[in-house]
Amino acid sequence: MENKSTKSHNIYVSEEEQTLKWEEIQVALEKNFGSEIYSSWLKNIILLKEYNDHLILGVPTRFFRDWIVSRYLDKILEQVKLFKLSLTRIEFKITEDVKTSIPNNIKIDEIGKVSEIKDSILNYNRLNPNLDFNNFVQGRSNEVALSYSKKICEQVSRYNPLYVYGGVGLGKTHLLNAIGLELQPDNNVMFISAERFMYHFIKSIKKNDMVNFKDFFRKSSVFIIDDIQFIRGKESLQEEFFHTFNSLMDKGSQVIISADRPPMKLDRVQERIKSRLSGGLIVDIESPDLELKNKIIKKRLMDIQNQFKENINISEDVLNFIAGESKTNIRELIGILNRIIAFSRVHKKILTVSDCKTILKDVFNQTKVITVDKIQNIVSNFYSISLSEMLSQRRSRPLARPRQIAMFLAKKLTTRSLPEIGRRFANRDHTTVIHAVKTINRLSEKDQELKKNISEIKSILMEE
Ligand code: ADP
Ligand code: MG
Repeated sequence: MENKSTKSHNIYVSEEEQTLKWEEIQVALEKNFGSEIYSSWLKNIILLKEYNDHLILGVPTRFFRDWIVSRYLDKILEQVKLFKLSLTRIEFKITEDVKTSIPNNIKIDEIGKVSEIKDSILNYNRLNPNLDFNNFVQGRSNEVALSYSKKICEQVSRYNPLYVYGGVGLGKTHLLNAIGLELQPDNNVMFISAERFMYHFIKSIKKNDMVNFKDFFRKSSVFIIDDIQFIRGKESLQEEFFHTFNSLMDKGSQVIISADRPPMKLDRVQERIKSRLSGGLIVDIESPDLELKNKIIKKRLMDIQNQFKENINISEDVLNFIAGESKTNIRELIGILNRIIAFSRVHKKILTVSDCKTILKDVFNQTKVITVDKIQNIVSNFYSISLSEMLSQRRSRPLARPRQIAMFLAKKLTTRSLPEIGRRFANRDHTTVIHAVKTINRLSEKDQELKKNISEIKSILMEE
């Protein structure tokens, strides 16, 4: 990938330490995140310094850093680890000066803040060209969902809405994306995650531009919305979604929805929405069986061999081992496979099953790393407040309580010191953190609702 800023900054990495080729990682990032997120955000990251266990990456502005850290950091780390196993963390430095690396749809004012993201709705409606029907391997667990997805492409609006549900990493997004790609040439396709739908919704409210927002989504003839469970507990978002949904259905647009559970199990979602979501066809994707896992591995190996024009020697034993090892989902399966392939390419050796066991040891023994950022994100999400509200100086109860809960969890679940935690909460003093911990400890003893919420937040933190 041609990227000037990357090249010129690589000189900061001293020769003996440098084992990573940032260009290669960028290719992997683009593949994984899709070209739209990549070109808006990730392309602008540069490698400043490489250590054995961590990397220092450069980003142009504070806004960039916060955006990337809050949304993509975990997945970026996961990706770079495929290239260098010993990495455990990533730090960011703000370079400010790298004007060239700022995406051209973003205007930067004098203080370096992003003042405007033009055409952002359009920017978020890109389909990933790699996730098509050709690349979707059929198996027993997904054949019903796959076959109805294809039927919809042959006859739009025959099953309306189509609701696809299943656990994490089983192929929902891939399938929805494939439908979008297939229908795109002849239809006005909108493909958006529920989370981004909310992002645009809030932005339009703030800009007083709801007319455009409504118009934009309602004019699509195929409306695909991913991960609808995200609307749980968010009343005003549900309201807006409900109206969008109805007006689309009224004019005969095809609606396709995915979720991690069936419609009736969407708790904290209005009954009328659940019932409308159930009004068409509901299909589920189950966990893959061994046969499907094997097929996916073989296909992926072929793809990589074709892409890199090199032979990858992985024995049948190893393949079976990988398929048997990944118990839960296809994303994990692919992650494991990538790791093993990266290792065998770097070390140029044919791997045995026992090599693989060693390589994968830390994948399976990985304890979840819970960071202050993650806590802030999940808590603010849980209480439907924004991250900036969580960090703001405002003291109203609906903001102060979640803020205190986040501080409390940061103290309990991370190894950060009180002053460090304070700093992460917009430079508050450590005494504020102590106060928060005490308050939440005290309140949760008698407030059952609070206690329940905290334990729910903890379990979300452990899951993610
Ligand atoms: P979900 O949206 O259900 O969490 P994704 O669609 O993101 O899952 O799938 C996770 C990963 O697994 C993606 O890289 C996707 O391409 C891949 N994947 C899932 N199912 C299949 C399949 N049947 N064939 C090939 N790749 C698949
Ligand atoms: Mg998904």
